[in-house]
Amino acid sequence: MTDVRWKFDTAVIHGAQAPGEWKSATLAPIYQTASHRFDTAEELSDVFAGKKAGFIYQRLRNPTNQVLEKRLSQLTGGLDAVVTGSGMAAINNAVLTICQAGDEIVSGNSLFMSTFLLFQNVHRKLGITVKLVESADLAAWKAAVTPKTKLLFVETIGNPKMDVPDIRGLADLAHANRAPLIVDNTLATPYLFLPLAHGADILVYSTTKYLNGHGAATGGAVIDAGRFDWPEDKYPDFALFKERKGNLAYIDKVWREIHINFGTTQSPFQTYLTLIGMDTLALRMERHMRNAIHVAEFLDRHPKVKWVNFPGLAKSPSHATAKAQFGGKGYGALLTFGLETEKACFDFIRNVKLIYHLANLGDCKSLVIHPWSSQYISFTEESRRENGITPDLLRISVGIEAIEDILEDFDQALRKV
Ligand SMILES: *Cc1c(COP(=O)(O)O)cnc(C)c1O
Repeated sequence: MTDVRWKFDTAVIHGAQAPGEWKSATLAPIYQTASHRFDTAEELSDVFAGKKAGFIYQRLRNPTNQVLEKRLSQLTGGLDAVVTGSGMAAINNAVLTICQAGDEIVSGNSLFMSTFLLFQNVHRKLGITVKLVESADLAAWKAAVTPKTKLLFVETIGNPKMDVPDIRGLADLAHANRAPLIVDNTLATPYLFLPLAHGADILVYSTTKYLNGHGAATGGAVIDAGRFDWPEDKYPDFALFKERKGNLAYIDKVWREIHINFGTTQSPFQTYLTLIGMDTLALRMERHMRNAIHVAEFLDRHPKVKWVNFPGLAKSPSHATAKAQFGGKGYGALLTFGLETEKACFDFIRNVKLIYHLANLGDCKSLVIHPWSSQYISFTEESRRENGITPDLLRISVGIEAIEDILEDFDQALRKV
């Protein structure tokens, strides 16, 4: 079985992979089957009753997905995980497992666009009150959290504001108010930062991004440290799960109550692609993050660039927190920068040759997007600005290509602006 002493770079490849399993295949097989057959009624009954482990039906569990669940848990310090068809499914599952109508959550306001819409529109419609606060302003969080707060939610590196909150501080605040801290660690990845080791209780990931690394498949995961004790007066509907599953109560509730019934299953083929991608996560992140620092410094010096927002730059308001929290290992590989006008941004996009213009991030290829005119087009101008989006802003996901070629592409495209 998996050797727990392995370093991250080894465990990301070999974790949850047992020699001799899977007919000695070296990659997890794709169990492309809607259901699993049983010889006897007694056996199926035992699996349904939870007395015996087993696979019943793909929407419930799948052996390929279980490999990813185990590997992610092991890498992140989690007790167990549920993988989902997308990052959004993971976020929705993580929240709805805890909240119902009348409940209140506090979230950082530096949010991935769909997470913002999920909180603002969908969860609000379900009767859940979402208070948004400046992600990196601990005092603002303190003012917003009340004894009624059921969870705190934050992104390790806010997309698109590129702000970095103090995870330990937020975890302490959450626990003082007997609430769990949920962290979306998509942009940092488990290679850069492990929020569960800094006090966070629950992680969500979009595996679509750096974990997959090739833009080949969508996917998500909810991972639980198994530490939060769900006090009964505040979380009465956890009682049954605690009684049955102990410290696996939350992940069992994610799975049994939300994942299965909402049908947020990930196809095992998607999982297979993600597992292959993850083999090179450590190598890719090293290059991604090194390239991002070069790109940020290049843009910072460029006469046509008005501003650059990247936590790796010493002038970023999040630099000190990011440096301390990430141990100097890196600052992620997403950044934003500003040109003179919206038209200049469009000119830049028209002229890039190497950099792909598309809506994604965390691909090994370098990517650019103008969020004001694309992802946020349906938002009011005011709401776009509140979300940190301005007409002069371009977002770059720095890839792992040769840095000379990336900078050359920036240079030639900026010359035509
Ligand atoms: C992309 C992303 C999501 C949503 O993930 P999908 O796989 O696209 O559903 C959530 N959070 C962050 C930070 C993301 O970048």
